[in-house]
Amino acid sequence: EDVRRKYVKDKKLGEGTYAIVYLAHLRTDPSTLFAIKKIKVNTEYKDGLSMDAIREVKYLQELSHANIIALHDVFSSKDQNLNLVLEFLPLGDLEMLIKDQNIQYGAGDVKAWMGMLSRAVWFCHENFVLHRDIKPNNLLIASDGEVKLADFGLARSFADPYLNMTHQVITRWYRPPELLYGARQYSGAVDIWSIGMVFAELLIRVPFVAGNSDMDQITKICEAFGTPTEDNWPGVTKLPNYVPVDKNYIIPVRGRDFYQQQFPTAGPVGADLLMSMCQLDPRKRSTARQILEHRWWFTEPKPTKKEDLPKKS
Ligand code: ADP
Repeated sequence: EDVRRKYVKDKKLGEGTYAIVYLAHLRTDPSTLFAIKKIKVNTEYKDGLSMDAIREVKYLQELSHANIIALHDVFSSKDQNLNLVLEFLPLGDLEMLIKDQNIQYGAGDVKAWMGMLSRAVWFCHENFVLHRDIKPNNLLIASDGEVKLADFGLARSFADPYLNMTHQVITRWYRPPELLYGARQYSGAVDIWSIGMVFAELLIRVPFVAGNSDMDQITKICEAFGTPTEDNWPGVTKLPNYVPVDKNYIIPVRGRDFYQQQFPTAGPVGADLLMSMCQLDPRKRSTARQILEHRWWFTEPKPTKKEDLPKKS
């Protein structure tokens, strides 16, 4: 019954903004490996490491899907920290692959990775879970090549909000315009935007819209995709952090040609799918289901088989 005693921590695997990750094994079977993620819980909320938080984790424990990292157990350690016992994924993440100059990949590989990401997000949304922090760094790779969505904003909601500023800059490049404008009500469309940004980055191997502040991110989104207006996005001017744009600086919303030109390796059908993910108005963005039903998956080239995907050496 003592979950804590079921696992033995081995070496430290890495440290992120909100957590320290350890390799671990089963006490009863040292060959079964796990990653234990010890969340740096905000002291102020420690007492409140409460039913809500636990309930959310428990819920994630039940989300079982090939493309979502498995959460095997949850326990609190003596120092009251929250420990998540996760599937051990030894082959790094998509960000490492994108950045590794020695790794070459093609259209079939991008299609395979995008398929795994899209199925993961479809499954989350089907179960009323939003991820909210999809980025290449949160797409971990299993030894069989399977890509798994990790880090369900969990760490964030438990962690000390003051920690992050000193440690590293939070990546805003995958954040949708409605969140940047301070929308309080949002939907699965936030994840779809992030999928689009990951798709674009897989194609060009650099982040597509890389702002250096939230304001700059908005500006760059407008330059890249067009300026949000009441015409193309009814209600946008009412959002809390909306910034009016001078009429002379309005950039029209980009059409098919733009996407085909910017992302030639996607092919015309792929460019079309990307465009459907990059709609400024969240209501116009495609849903995870629509993504999975898109023609692109059935267009040549076929997605690479997972065991044939490039991986780090
Ligand atoms: P970050 O978001 O900065 O990567 P994390 O706290 O998520 O921070 O993870 C820190 C490091 O621990 C990662 O860079 C990775 O090397 C390792 N790691 C995280 N989760 C796993 C896992 N499930 N399996 C293997 N290694 C992991």
